[in-house]
Amino acid sequence: MKQIAVIGAGTMGNGIAHVFAQHGAGVALIDVDERQLERALQTVRGNMDRQIKKQTLTEADRDAALARIRPTTALDAVDGAELVVEAASEDAAVKFDLFHRLDEAASASALLASNTSSISITEIAAQTRRPDKVIGMHFMNPVPVIQLVEVIRGLATSDATTTRVMETARALGKTPVEVNDYPGFVSNRVLMPMINEAVYCVMEGVAQPEAVDTVMKLGMNHPLGPLALADLIGLDVCLAILEVLHRGLGDDKYRPCPLLRKMVAAGRLGRKRGRGFYDYTK
Ligand code: NAD
Repeated sequence: MKQIAVIGAGTMGNGIAHVFAQHGAGVALIDVDERQLERALQTVRGNMDRQIKKQTLTEADRDAALARIRPTTALDAVDGAELVVEAASEDAAVKFDLFHRLDEAASASALLASNTSSISITEIAAQTRRPDKVIGMHFMNPVPVIQLVEVIRGLATSDATTTRVMETARALGKTPVEVNDYPGFVSNRVLMPMINEAVYCVMEGVAQPEAVDTVMKLGMNHPLGPLALADLIGLDVCLAILEVLHRGLGDDKYRPCPLLRKMVAAGRLGRKRGRGFYDYTK
C-alpha cells in the first residue's frame, strides 16, 4: 500500500501511522483534535528515537518516515488512500457516523478497516455501500512492538479484501490471524473471561491480587498477570468489553464481576488513574 489514511491519532492511531510510515507508505493522519495530532507526531518521533538507540532504525529512515506522515483535521484527506484504518474512540455512534462519511469521502476502490476492540465489524460495514470492502484490522498496543494483527471478517467482507489486508499486515512485519466477526473476536473473548475470573478470585477472597498474578506469571508463563494487565488496559475498558460479550453472546459466563463494576464506579481505572488493583502513585 502506497497511500493510506489513519483516523484517530490517539494511543493506537499514532502506532499504526508509525508502522505504515516506517514501511514506506504515505499516511494521512486524521483527528478532530489538533493537539492530539501534535502529541501523536511527538510520540512517533520518540518511539522511533528508541528504535535508533536499539539500532533497528537509522536517523535517515526516521526522518523519511516522519516526512511521510501528514497530520490533518480534514476527513477529505482520505481521498487517494488505498486503505483507511479507523482508530477513533471506542464508541459505536462515532464509528457508525465515521464509516458513513468515509464511504462518501474515500475512493470507491479503497478498503475501510476498523481497529475496534469490540464493536461488530458487520454492523460497521452496514453503514457503508461497500460492506465487502470493510474489515477489522485489530492491532495491539504498543503497535510498533506487538506482532499480532487480528484480521476480522464481517459477514459481507470479501475474500479479496481479506487477502489484501492479510498481505498488508505481513508487509508491515506483522503476523495476521484471520477470524470471523463475533463479539470480542478471539482476542478479547479469551482474554476478558480470564481477567474477569481473576477479579472474582480477589472478590471471593481466594487470593490477593499479587498472588493471583504470580500464579499466572510463574505457573502459566504469562509475561504479565491478568490483574496487572487489566490495570494496563484500563478497568473501564475491560468492563465495557465484558458487557459486549455478555450482551452479544447472551451467556452468563461473561457476567462482569461485581468487584470490577465497583472499582470502575470508584474511579480506580488502573494505571491511567494511578490506582487499580495496584497503586501506581509511588
Ligand atoms: P484514544 O482515546 O487514545 O484515541 C482516540 C482518538 O480518536 C482521539 O485522539 C480522538 O480525538 C479521536 N477521535 C474521536 N472521534 C473522532 C472522529 N470523529 N474523527 C477523527 N478522530 C476522532 O483511543 P485508542 O486507545 O487509541 O483506541 C482507538 C481504537 O483502537 C478503539 O476502537 C479501541 O477499542 C481500539 N484499540 C485500543 C487498544 C488499546 O490498548 N488502547 C488496543 C486495541 C484496539
